[in-house]
Amino acid sequence: MQKVTDFVSITPTATIAVQSHGWRAKCLQRLVRLQMPVPPTVALSFDAVRALAAGYPLDASALTDLLGPGQLICVRPSPENTEWGGPSAVLNIGMSEACHSALSETHGREAADALYLRFVQAYAVNVARLDPDMFESDMPTAQALRFALRAYEDETDEPFPQEAERQLADVLRSMSRAWEGTSARLLRQAKGAPAEAGLGLVVQAMALGLGQVESGSGVMQFVDSTTGKPRVTGRYLSQSQGREALARQEGSLYLTRDPRGPSLEELCPGPFDELIRLGAVSRQGLREEMQIEFTIENGHLHVLDALKVARTSRAAVTIAVALAEDGVIEREEALLRIQPRALSELLHPQVDPAGERDVIVKGIAASPGAAQGRIVFSAMAAQAMSARGEACILVRRETAPEDVRGMHAAKGILTERGGMTSHAAVIARGLGLPCVVGASSLRFNPRDRTLTAMDGRIFHEGDVITIDGTRGEALAGAPGLLEPALDDAFYSLLHWADAVRDIGVRANADTPDDARMARVFEAEGIGLCRTEHMFFEENRLTVMREMIFADRSEDRAEALDRLLPMQREDFIELFEIMDGHPVCIRLFDPPLHEFLPQTRDGMRELAEALDRPLSEVTRRVESMTEFNPMLGMRGVRLGIAMPEIYDMQVRAIFEATLEIGRRGKRVVPEIMIPLVSAQREVELVKARIDAVAALVQARMGVPLDFRLGVMVETPRAALRSGDLAQHSAFLSFGTNDLTQMTYGLSRDDAGRFMGTYVQQGVYPEDPFHRLDTEGVGELLLIGAERGKRVNPGLTISICGEHGGNPESISFCRAAGFDYVSCSPFRVPVARLTAAHLALERWRRR
Ligand code: PEP
Ligand code: MG
Repeated sequence: MQKVTDFVSITPTATIAVQSHGWRAKCLQRLVRLQMPVPPTVALSFDAVRALAAGYPLDASALTDLLGPGQLICVRPSPENTEWGGPSAVLNIGMSEACHSALSETHGREAADALYLRFVQAYAVNVARLDPDMFESDMPTAQALRFALRAYEDETDEPFPQEAERQLADVLRSMSRAWEGTSARLLRQAKGAPAEAGLGLVVQAMALGLGQVESGSGVMQFVDSTTGKPRVTGRYLSQSQGREALARQEGSLYLTRDPRGPSLEELCPGPFDELIRLGAVSRQGLREEMQIEFTIENGHLHVLDALKVARTSRAAVTIAVALAEDGVIEREEALLRIQPRALSELLHPQVDPAGERDVIVKGIAASPGAAQGRIVFSAMAAQAMSARGEACILVRRETAPEDVRGMHAAKGILTERGGMTSHAAVIARGLGLPCVVGASSLRFNPRDRTLTAMDGRIFHEGDVITIDGTRGEALAGAPGLLEPALDDAFYSLLHWADAVRDIGVRANADTPDDARMARVFEAEGIGLCRTEHMFFEENRLTVMREMIFADRSEDRAEALDRLLPMQREDFIELFEIMDGHPVCIRLFDPPLHEFLPQTRDGMRELAEALDRPLSEVTRRVESMTEFNPMLGMRGVRLGIAMPEIYDMQVRAIFEATLEIGRRGKRVVPEIMIPLVSAQREVELVKARIDAVAALVQARMGVPLDFRLGVMVETPRAALRSGDLAQHSAFLSFGTNDLTQMTYGLSRDDAGRFMGTYVQQGVYPEDPFHRLDTEGVGELLLIGAERGKRVNPGLTISICGEHGGNPESISFCRAAGFDYVSCSPFRVPVARLTAAHLALERWRRR
């Protein structure tokens, strides 16, 4: 059988590539090129490892010749990607009775015992596959060594192998086979490795870390893993090997001078200074912040390995921006090094990953970030608690429009029902509140005001919990949090993203607070202002209800006249905040009965306010109840059946526009008609809007400029977009309703079975969460194409929740959309995603 000889000494000029020898071999070659004191090292290629696993023998003597005579050896895995793991490293190969005696002379008996024991244990477990428990003991080292050698012999019926070449060949073969094992393969595939991913192995002469003069090992990095800011951290442990210094706190030293205890800087200033110098060299040469694994042997420094520093998302941004600002990498590369989704971790507090997690319940991660507070079970209780200055978490079966003020008062939301576009999820994302929905293993008991967790524990109103909206979990108590990080690095990165992206990003913003958030995240404008939320405030709700109860058009107009100044103020404030950036205002959309009370108490209060008999109010509310309100009298249908509402809204928009003009700023408002399905709807609404515009212009004597557009949310609107485009300056796809209507799937109820559907592969993902590019996407393409054919200047956008989703942004960009619009807190992710898409070509160069 032919011997395996496909290995090479890691020298500056050797042919070594990540794709053939793995990241570790390549990284070590770079360290060698940077003239770091790396002990002699040999790299085995993926092919060599495959051959060893298949049973081909190793040319061990050729390999050991490359390392030099009489060395102890270690082997470490080198897959193509650091994340893909690999078998554990094996140290001290070559230890034998003879070697033990020699080392006892040179390094002392205790050191020799420790080295031998470590190898016997690793060989017994990894090569002979003996039970690891057999070798765990707290005996003194010398005794443990004798015990381990005996146990090996008893279990295998042969003495512990003494020839270095055989030991090495056995270790390499067993590591190669471990890589081919089913569990190892599944584990790496879960991390994105392809089925046929290869493994390289790195064989290195050992620098011992044990000796008479100062010897030991440690790790050093030059930035803080949490913040990414410059800071030397790590540990060093005298008379140790590998990463023991990190594992064993006891006796390990700080690196830099530290009031808490002795440091390497004081103990070994020479190697310490050299390490600091090498840190700068590796940052420049490897174009990355690295953690250096080193050994000091009899006072001499050796660099064994270097790993990319582990980091939080926040640290990743700080590190990438600093590297680009220092000219180490290009800005484009800094952008590509940050996963867009990771940015949402910077916008909110996060549960500290280093802390303990006591999970009460799991659900859908509907809005990211962490929030802590006392449990409340009603919107009213949330308001009361927030008025007392206490933080609270609103727990509901599901939320409804009348809960919105309570949601504003809460720090986080947890609901038993609902999916990604349920009321709770949409509002929470808009408000930037951490939110978990669809926590169906939770039992919410409103009557005795308790909730039962998935493990049966009972929580009462007032108990403190934490919502982790990033992971979709609720936790008991208040674990430690990491603060948000909107620092200079965050903004620099996003400005670089803006410079390269080629699709616009606006925000969905309904309130002044949303609009201010949109500015904080530098959205280019508002792509969707849902006006209905403006009518839920206490002083407006009653007038709204009077309007709904009016029988005659004149009475409706009278109530709306009282709403007009409030609505005008809303728009003035919004335009002021947006400071000339475009604002797209959607006319009133929901079914009217959403504004009516649902409970008997609420009906009584309304009867009092309206001075009507309770029976009349009850009858009226019942008569307005629709079997299928989402497909009933809402959106433009309401605008046509009760045109006074839209008249009032557009008048408020126009008057606000002129008022802003008087203050010296220019706004061109965009007015959007919701839930359109027929051309005639647009014609009717347009005629009335034009009439109001003419009236306002005549009264004020100032010309008005505005843009009228259609929200495409019904399949028919998408199919007939050519008709709609004749009267529109823009079309904006409302993919929440469009998904609902394309699938015939209720966006409020789908959460109940979505888990089962996704699990069984009916849908690859919740289509309210990830745009269905095949079905709904086809309607988007048809709509955009037919609209543009009739009106080439048409602006096309998406404003459903999908707008902030990286896959949807990619789809919309490829389809030639002008912009996407999403919740303010998703704007940074959208900006970076758009930049990544534009950089595709740069990446492939
Ligand atoms: C939509 O339907 O996609 C949309 C943005 O409108 P809403 O969510 O308010 O129905
Ligand atoms: Mg809609």
